[in-house]
Amino acid sequence: MDLSTPLKTLGPVFRMKAKTLEKVGIVNVEDFLFYTPFRYDSNLIVSEIGKAQPGETLTIQGNVTKVSNTFTKRGLSIQKITVEDGTGKIDLTFFNQKFLINTVHEGDFISAAGRIDKFGNRLTMAVRSYEILKSENDSAINTTGLVPVYPQTQNLTSKWIRGRIKTILDQIETLPDYLPAELKEENNLPDLIAALKSIHFPKSAEEANKARQRLSFDELLLKNLASLERKEAWEKKAKTDAFEVKKHQKEIEKLIKSIPFELTNAQKKAVEEIFGDLEKNIPMNRLLQGDVGSGKTVVAGIVLYLAYLNGFQGALMAPTEILANQHYVTIKKLLEPFGIRVELFTSNNKNKEENFDIAIGTHSLIQKGAKFKKLGLIVIDEQQRFGVEQRATLAEKGNNPHVLTMTATPIPRTIFLTIYADLKVSFLNELPKGRQKIKTHLVPNEKRQKGYAWISEKIKTEKSQVFIVCPFIEPSETLATVKAVTEEVEHLKKNVFPNFKLGLLHGKMKTADKDKVVADFKAGKLDILVATPVIEVGIDIPTADIMLIEASERFGLAQLHQLRGRVGRGQKQSYCFLFTESKSDKTVERLTYLQTIDNGAELAEVDLKLRGPGEMFGTMQHGIPDLKIANLSDYPLFELARKEAEKIYPSLKKYPNLVTMVQKTDTPKISKD
Ligand code: ADP
Ligand code: MG
Repeated sequence: MDLSTPLKTLGPVFRMKAKTLEKVGIVNVEDFLFYTPFRYDSNLIVSEIGKAQPGETLTIQGNVTKVSNTFTKRGLSIQKITVEDGTGKIDLTFFNQKFLINTVHEGDFISAAGRIDKFGNRLTMAVRSYEILKSENDSAINTTGLVPVYPQTQNLTSKWIRGRIKTILDQIETLPDYLPAELKEENNLPDLIAALKSIHFPKSAEEANKARQRLSFDELLLKNLASLERKEAWEKKAKTDAFEVKKHQKEIEKLIKSIPFELTNAQKKAVEEIFGDLEKNIPMNRLLQGDVGSGKTVVAGIVLYLAYLNGFQGALMAPTEILANQHYVTIKKLLEPFGIRVELFTSNNKNKEENFDIAIGTHSLIQKGAKFKKLGLIVIDEQQRFGVEQRATLAEKGNNPHVLTMTATPIPRTIFLTIYADLKVSFLNELPKGRQKIKTHLVPNEKRQKGYAWISEKIKTEKSQVFIVCPFIEPSETLATVKAVTEEVEHLKKNVFPNFKLGLLHGKMKTADKDKVVADFKAGKLDILVATPVIEVGIDIPTADIMLIEASERFGLAQLHQLRGRVGRGQKQSYCFLFTESKSDKTVERLTYLQTIDNGAELAEVDLKLRGPGEMFGTMQHGIPDLKIANLSDYPLFELARKEAEKIYPSLKKYPNLVTMVQKTDTPKISKD
């Protein structure tokens, strides 16, 4: 047996579970051994039965002297297993586990962990876990020491995983280690086999930590190496057409003059950096990162114009239809005066023109045929929402086209470099002039009516336009959320804002309906737009000036920041009300940061500190990699792995085992909804 041995060749026990294992990505021995515990159940000490006290949680071991099954009046069944160890006698009690009568027998040597109690004058234990041992010397892995607990699915219990991993580890004496010896020595890392044995069955917390450190380091090192490899591959790619910039300077200036506002310095700098890439015959691979409202779209527009001037077609892809439509309108307005033909590609837009200069759309740009004649530049908005493959497929429609990706998700630098060493970055770290800070207030439940009254007044006297975001945070909209948001609109219409015009927007609506609602709101025909967080991404309605977010405690700070970025886009003072029914001080404290901080990256950092990476990078926080073992908050380890990866990369070929591991390392997997 070695790491590549498929589990299903290891006997019927594995064969039976092969499908289930595959579902969690476990196929061979390596996958299985790297399926690490997410915690350990605390040290359970083996006590003599005679010394066990009611109220204690501990482990006892002894011989089974009796097994019985009784029924209660209500039809439940109780199993009682009596155990003796020479110092005393105890009844292990179970409920509704009749199979025990057949699996536990008199004379078995059993080890059981649980809570001690007294029933009359008999000692009892409510059993948390138990196992039959072959003899007194057999080691108990489920009931003593640090017991590893694994993420479990329905058909895959922690106990099953624990037992099988133990069987495999017992059969492996040595493993070829892919980490170079120098690297291990310098960084004081244990051997691979030792690390694997200790992470599953540590003798102490310290040993477990050390093992985790080694395996986390490996994971990050491999990600770094894979990312460096992608970088090299990209640079070696077949040459592409360089764009002429100088020749078209005048035309570009003319376009910029036609824009109704002055570009910020950050926008100018980004355009320059991008043009610098485009002048080369290596395809560009750049990320434009800028907080919500920093004006990424216009940068994309200018760059698409340069592609056109060079005789190339361009494509702009966005993750939602609403956003694609909006870009279509914006880019058309910007570029049509210069004779450019812009075409929209969404699943609902049928009569497409074959002759276009710029194609804008959702992923249907890839699936349904946008037929490009000469695709030279791709822009991908909200890039974290697309998978690597989707981007690659679009790129295949051209001859190594230049690629510009855009995002508002702030990814900490250290993490960024680990996964995206192949990307160059431009930052829009400046908001357009004249933007006023959005006044943000936390509104507890007692003040709800007051809040509504204040908003009503604002609509009446100042023609305010309001977004109301309903508290549905599922990654995809379900029928239940649609029903809830529909009910909320009815309630608001009837009881709260009877004198105003309300619209509804959610992801499950027909495109035409969505478009109409957004257009009506934009045109001022609606006062209030009630929406699910679909509006989080990109919607630009400069006249909207009030945002109300329900159950705000359920969102991450960075996400709330993105949501509130839907207002404050015009010259008017804008407001954001965070409604919460939470009474927790911690929650309230967390939300108050939005009152003072108005920078997405900073808020993401705060959230990381307050809630930990698990929460913060949960389902709604796209763009952050899946890490199996390493912890996102472990910055020093990220730094170390990056440094070591850069050092070793030039001579990577000297370590064939490491090369194999790098080849197996995933390209960054990013959600594709
Ligand atoms: P995001 O970076 O979030 O995608 P958008 O591109 O949607 O931002 O721009 C937000 C709003 O700001 C738009 O209404 C846009 O017209 C406007 N805008 C962009 N750049 C500037 C600027 N330099 N000065 C004033 N307004 C700008
Ligand atoms: Mg945008």
